[in-house]
Amino acid sequence: MSWSINIGSIAGTVVRIHLTFLLFLAWIFAASYAAGGAAAAWDGLAFMLLLFLCVLLHEFGHIFTARAFGVTTPFVTLLPIGGVAQLTRIPEEPGQEFLIAIAGPLVNVVIAIGLMVLAGASLQSAGTAVDNMHAPLIDRLAAVNLFLALFNMIPAFPMDGGRVLRALLASRLGYVRATGIAAAIGQFVAFALGFIGLLYNPVLIFIAIFVYLAASSEAHMVALRALSRGVPVSAAMMTQFATLAPQAHVDEAVQTLLRTSQGEFPVIDDAGKPVGVLGRYDLIRALKQLGPDARVADAMSAELPTVGHRRCLDEAFRILQEQSAPAVGVTDAGGRIIGLITPETVGQMMVVQNALPKGVQLGPWSRPAGA
Ligand SMILES: [Zn+2]
Repeated sequence: MSWSINIGSIAGTVVRIHLTFLLFLAWIFAASYAAGGAAAAWDGLAFMLLLFLCVLLHEFGHIFTARAFGVTTPFVTLLPIGGVAQLTRIPEEPGQEFLIAIAGPLVNVVIAIGLMVLAGASLQSAGTAVDNMHAPLIDRLAAVNLFLALFNMIPAFPMDGGRVLRALLASRLGYVRATGIAAAIGQFVAFALGFIGLLYNPVLIFIAIFVYLAASSEAHMVALRALSRGVPVSAAMMTQFATLAPQAHVDEAVQTLLRTSQGEFPVIDDAGKPVGVLGRYDLIRALKQLGPDARVADAMSAELPTVGHRRCLDEAFRILQEQSAPAVGVTDAGGRIIGLITPETVGQMMVVQNALPKGVQLGPWSRPAGA
């Protein structure tokens, strides 16, 4: 994710702040200053930073629970609307997804209870208005943590409540149907939020749009994954593509980029074995930093993930997602690259698949008898 800056790493997860979050902090400071002078501005800023810490703890609730199930999280990004922990995969095991999803809101509940029991925070004075500046900081913090827990339990993707709902449904209905139903409920909730927003608070309209889009994209991803199950990689791979030699110069790679419409080039050694992949952005970066005479070997990403040509597409699809790889190579029995799968080829295959009559699948062995 661009527009984000790394602020360090905690237990193997890089913490990033989205620039809009910093703008948001500046805005809070300015708005509090205008309303109540310097003291109010510092108080507002301190509150936001503590809130930021609570959001971070919430995300680490997800991250550590996921880790217990063997799922790592390379990045967590903080946005003004909350945090996004980039898990390498969402377990399709409903019990695991349930625990990972609910761990975040539980952290906020624990913080709120901790503040009340140990620090004597009272919800009375904070009331429902979290932005009531006259309430003590600690009261507002307890209230905002309860709000965070409730808000995240709204049963809509990408909120934790959406995942909790899907996990509960999936244990009975299976993953794909459960996602469909959870996404539909999420879209209904988004409409309701948008409607309430029209009447009371325009900020809710933005949240509603965000929730609506996230619900559709989650349903789309799961459907795509379900569709790609049982489809052989050979049905979706590019078979005509340019490759580069590791000793080639970067300017040769530029010529190839211009000559083809390809964005990712497998780098193949003399024996025909893949040694890396050079993406469009690697290429541009190398051109800027190393110049046109640099070798492809110095500019490429060192690893091109591969799958065997007899494997199913969902495996390639998972690699594309989990490793954020620009492409996956398809290898024959001898380990030589015979095809290339990129997000675009998967997308194109889906378009073609949708245009086919019902029941007809891509791939020679799945055609109906007689066809
Ligand atoms: Zn969460």
